[in-house]
Amino acid sequence: MSYIKDSIEHLIGNKIPRPSKQQQSAEVQAIYAGKKGKLSKADVEAVRHAHKSTFLSKWQKRRWATLIFVNMLFVASFYFDVQLVEGALTGARVMGFHFADLNAALQVALAYKHIVLNLVIGIVTVFLMWLLLGGRTFCSWVCPYHLLSEWAEYLHLWLVKKRVIKNHTFNRKVRIVFYVVFALLALITGYTVFETISPTGILSRALIYGPGLALVWVGLLLLFEIFYSRRAWCRYVCPIGVTYGVVGLLSPVRVKYNAEACHHEGDCRKVCLVPHVLELTIRSGARDVNQDVSSDCTRCGMCVDVCPTDSLTYEVKGLSKMLK
Ligand code: SF4
Ligand code: SF4
Repeated sequence: MSYIKDSIEHLIGNKIPRPSKQQQSAEVQAIYAGKKGKLSKADVEAVRHAHKSTFLSKWQKRRWATLIFVNMLFVASFYFDVQLVEGALTGARVMGFHFADLNAALQVALAYKHIVLNLVIGIVTVFLMWLLLGGRTFCSWVCPYHLLSEWAEYLHLWLVKKRVIKNHTFNRKVRIVFYVVFALLALITGYTVFETISPTGILSRALIYGPGLALVWVGLLLLFEIFYSRRAWCRYVCPIGVTYGVVGLLSPVRVKYNAEACHHEGDCRKVCLVPHVLELTIRSGARDVNQDVSSDCTRCGMCVDVCPTDSLTYEVKGLSKMLK
């Protein structure tokens, strides 16, 4: 239950307070007490040093390859007219089966105020698929904007490090406000307003059918993220992330945190698109020795790769073997 509660709090932009002693298990309290005064800076640095991090880490390599492969499937299928995958990420037919991006489907239903059978088939298929695959896995493993903004993020972080710019953050609750605004706009105008400005759809269509003027908008978003606010679109605006975060509430694919070996140095939070989900890694932040990271997590694996103590791992609920 606490996974679902934490996930809902994170999805609506709430901060989860540090658990009180009464909310923590005796086991995790003993672990925190045992670490008191034992983790010196030198210990942390030694473990960090032993954990060689590379530019393209293990899960990042797999993720980028998958993302490029999925998007190229659409491109190749259109280009060679093989009809394996027809359409774009927002709505497609895969080997004859209808697929509809859940957020795009919601926008269509609100705008046109009726749902045709093919849309229902597409919604159910995609819902079940992302339920099995992890919900926001869509963001980091499929969304083409994620890849571009990940590259832009490297530039942003470099500029921050060089003190050329400062990062600016916003209240995360604004994402829910945008979610409601886009839904209302579709309902009132009868037009899928969000779809025209969504970089996910714009990029997917541009890759398949060729570039258009809308790419200027994507360029402006990236410039905003590079010079003003790190990963701003995904963190504060995009309703697709919220929709798939809701799907992830029931998904068995999660990232699991183990408090025992953790050095609490915070490397994981530095690389995470949604660092609030990793606040449980701050000392005394976990309620239990093992705790699942909330469903706002995109299952990107950056924290799994960077963690020097292997305290963060992928898991498939119900299967004892964890993915490393
Ligand atoms: S939040 Fe939106 S733009 Fe960002 S990765 Fe997810 S779907 Fe793509
Ligand atoms: S918690 Fe880990 S897997 Fe989830 S989004 Fe953050 S870095 Fe990626």
